[in-house]
Amino acid sequence: MSIHTTGILIDLDGTLYHGKRRIPGADQFVSRLRERQLPFLFVTNNSSRTPEQVADHLKEMGIDAAADEVCTSSLAAASYISRELPGAKVAILGEEGLHAAIEQAGLQVTEDQPDYCVQGIYRSLSYDSLARAVQWIHGGAVSVLTNPDLLLPSDDGLSPGAGSLGAAIEAASGVKPIVIGKPSSILMNYAADRLGISPRQAVVVGDNMRTDIAAGAQAGCKTILVMTGITTPYNIEEHRTSAGVSPDYICETLSQAADLLCSGELFT
Ligand SMILES: [Mg+2]
Repeated sequence: MSIHTTGILIDLDGTLYHGKRRIPGADQFVSRLRERQLPFLFVTNNSSRTPEQVADHLKEMGIDAAADEVCTSSLAAASYISRELPGAKVAILGEEGLHAAIEQAGLQVTEDQPDYCVQGIYRSLSYDSLARAVQWIHGGAVSVLTNPDLLLPSDDGLSPGAGSLGAAIEAASGVKPIVIGKPSSILMNYAADRLGISPRQAVVVGDNMRTDIAAGAQAGCKTILVMTGITTPYNIEEHRTSAGVSPDYICETLSQAADLLCSGELFT
């Protein structure tokens, strides 16, 4: 068993919390991984928050977390662009987390002939910003979408997510974006790389077959589906069919997932 050549990539919304409510056992789940010295990262499609803000949100709910344990689709997008073209000129349609990630990666934020147009959730999107995005892409900018989620939960019900805004840009530009977040494997590959392991040495834990499990499977990770969020015993077959993948393991609770991870069985 080689514990140090493995790592765990943990989904957040629907896995450790719902909005502002901690899922039962989420605090214990994280503390058991720490006790067992299993390396892990919190991996989220959310591009709006900085790693510090994500860690603060977890801590407010009683889940021990540090900013450097957080992996967002914004960080993965910034890393992807930096690798493709270091110091690239990037136009941003997004919020604080995306701006911070692009700037910290040493990329040049500009609205003048950008090499890349990167878009995430952008709740102050206007017709004007949509028009500029389309013009940048027509002018040769590579279109990058942080995450393809069509809907996101809000206090008033479901709201359009980054993927819905991306659909408008794609329709008008005629260009399919490079998708970073789950179900794309780019986010998982980035997260595994941050832990210094190959995706094959990583275990993804998440509640969503179509995003977490699909991205994990695509990247070559092992996968654990937890029944803490979107997947229930009643819809699991439907989700399995629409995702076109099956998790390697299914755990009803986070406590069972921690038992499985701490048993070492997965890492032999
Ligand atoms: Mg989730």
